[in-house]
Amino acid sequence: MSELIPSLAELHAMPQVQQPTYEDADRLNWVVNRLRELPPLVFAGECDDLRDKIARVANSQAFILQGGDCAETFDGVRADNIKSKLRVLLSMSVVLTYAAQVPVVKVGRIAGQYAKPRSKDTETRGAITLPAYRGDAVNGFDFTPKSRRHDPDRLIQMYNASAATLNLVRAFVTGGFADIRQLHAWNASFVQDSRIEHRYEQMAGEIERALGFMLACGVKDDTLSVVDFYASHEALLLDYEYAMTRIDSRSHRPYDTSGHMVWIGERTRQPNGAQVELLRRVSNPLGIKLGPNTAGTDAIELADRLDPNRVPGRITFIARMGADKVREKLPSIIEAVEQTGRKVAWVCDPMHGNTFETANGYKTRSYAAVVEELNGFFDVHDQLGTWPGGVHVELTGEDVTECLGGAFQLSETDLDARYETACDPRLNRSQSLELAFMIAERLNQ
Ligand code: PEP
Ligand code: MN
Repeated sequence: MSELIPSLAELHAMPQVQQPTYEDADRLNWVVNRLRELPPLVFAGECDDLRDKIARVANSQAFILQGGDCAETFDGVRADNIKSKLRVLLSMSVVLTYAAQVPVVKVGRIAGQYAKPRSKDTETRGAITLPAYRGDAVNGFDFTPKSRRHDPDRLIQMYNASAATLNLVRAFVTGGFADIRQLHAWNASFVQDSRIEHRYEQMAGEIERALGFMLACGVKDDTLSVVDFYASHEALLLDYEYAMTRIDSRSHRPYDTSGHMVWIGERTRQPNGAQVELLRRVSNPLGIKLGPNTAGTDAIELADRLDPNRVPGRITFIARMGADKVREKLPSIIEAVEQTGRKVAWVCDPMHGNTFETANGYKTRSYAAVVEELNGFFDVHDQLGTWPGGVHVELTGEDVTECLGGAFQLSETDLDARYETACDPRLNRSQSLELAFMIAERLNQ
């Protein structure tokens, strides 16, 4: 494998940030070797299919919906949790497909989103300072020295949690659950009395009638009962992503088999850093987060380094500018990339530029800011004549109270009720559905 990807030692000799510090090098070595023996989680052919679909997005012919938890947890590997997340993503995708009449490429932040970059290495509570929580793949959420120690064995747990999640996702999306005729059932267990749910039910009714018409006409098509759903996560941990990188027996090229699409975070995308070095060798479709300080030349440099051959669908730029900056910062980046003749998918992450802390100490985002950033994103693309290719959101299927506003007008004091995220605040189900309707309206204009 050596000529196709660097060794782990070579990677670790490169500039790198946001990596765990393990005390037991032998144990880490054992873990990496064990992971390298374990089966791939996804197949190269599936990654290629997703890349082809993203190429359609780059070509203005489809829209990406990418969403899920900020940080998945090992505890969260439960059927009900995975099912409700999938259900909200499928409901959103139906809203987008039906209301905006565009094909939707469905990608979860799921089955691998266990590692987090942090702005501070430590966390202080009272007189005690401990290592920051870096996601279940690295250490525990509990604020104790034992739990916050970086533990390489958690990488094996990450693999197992990802495998169990992906197994259930695959069963759901091919086993009838994702059948479009289940539209009402996806909704059944949720509050029916909100404006949003009512709107959804109404649309589900319309779709049902249209489907009934098609079936009565004799149209029978598997595409109604099976959906293509892909898994993605931030490829943060070099040890894990390296261990999951395998040579495809068909194409003889390396793929990161930990997920179909992997992305590079805003904090780890140094062009000469280890992250970029590993990912530029693998053939998966790649996401690249771009914050408000990105220059057009930065985006071009990254694209050239990660995709010198301009493979269609390879690069998705995920812009997370902030509601107050998107109109000012995004246009020059898009223009610079467009001028090179490169076709990429432009996706808006309206979450990460809009985080703030409330007076009562919760990290939150307001639904209004999320909508405002998305409106800015759509306006910029309208002005430039480019295609607003998708949205990347942090959400959950549960009725949590982590983001302010939305149909139920959640206030700062409401956050106490169900604030459950292990990291960033997520849209709950009704906020997510409401957002899907808002996006569909923009796509329709
Ligand atoms: C994230 O997606 O959770 C994240 C940390 O994003 P970013 O790299 O854009 O800050
Ligand atoms: Mn996040």
